[in-house]
Amino acid sequence: MLHIENLRANVGDKEIIKGLTLDVPAGEVHAIMGPNGAGKSTLSYVLTGREGYEVTGGSASLNGEDLLALEANERAAKGLFLSFQYPLEIPGVPALTFIRAALNAQRKARGEGEISAPEFLKLARAKAGELKIDFEMLKRPLNVGFSGGEKKRMEILQMAMLSPRFLILDETDSGLDIDALKIVAEGVNAVRSPERSMLVITHYQRLLDYIKPDRVHVLAAGRIVASGGPELALQLEAEGYDKFARAA
Ligand code: ADP
Ligand code: MG
Ligand code: MG
Repeated sequence: MLHIENLRANVGDKEIIKGLTLDVPAGEVHAIMGPNGAGKSTLSYVLTGREGYEVTGGSASLNGEDLLALEANERAAKGLFLSFQYPLEIPGVPALTFIRAALNAQRKARGEGEISAPEFLKLARAKAGELKIDFEMLKRPLNVGFSGGEKKRMEILQMAMLSPRFLILDETDSGLDIDALKIVAEGVNAVRSPERSMLVITHYQRLLDYIKPDRVHVLAAGRIVASGGPELALQLEAEGYDKFARAA
């Protein structure tokens, strides 16, 4: 599904991604772990096409399609979704209105018409129910006065409504407490499916107690320096990144 080969990318004139190769087959959840500053967030921004991240070599494709040739909104329309590390607060705009706008932007990019109000409400109620989110909360302005856990639930709901094919979760610096962590994990586990793949980027092993990855990769100094099963995460927790950072 996601195929990255020998990818190189700069931020400003500094090379951050230095020949990174990674494959995530359909239906699999892969974790990327690594020390601070390794380039984990940079990788997610390069893949989603954020401005200011310049690819200088290599390739990245999603379902055989060259990701790097597409604009950021086109990548989103193809089903690539990056979680928001810092949730937006939008005073005056109900969460439902925001999510509907996001959904319609995605449909527009796919050449589809807008979703009707009844159809949207039906979908929102169904997804909120699945994720155990109080529907009344969706009528409040997005994230304003929400607790950390409520913001996470909103993010998971947005993700579920947009139904991504490929999901990147970058939680590295968000300092999630244990309850928020469980909310994220439940949401992710609820949307696991054979047609959907995920990249879970995390600095800490504990998230992987709740989201069982198929594979774990270590990213150090801009490339993948080790890969293994879930036991690799435990080894990293016990031994730290030093050994891998030196190998890079
Ligand atoms: P990680 O997510 O693994 O902690 P990042 O991808 O955030 O690492 O950062 C990788 C490196 O790129 C770091 O050395 C960081 O200082 C640098 N970097 C990230 N963003 C920028 C930026 N906008 N301008 C300059 N350097 C940046
Ligand atoms: Mg960091
Ligand atoms: Mg990061």
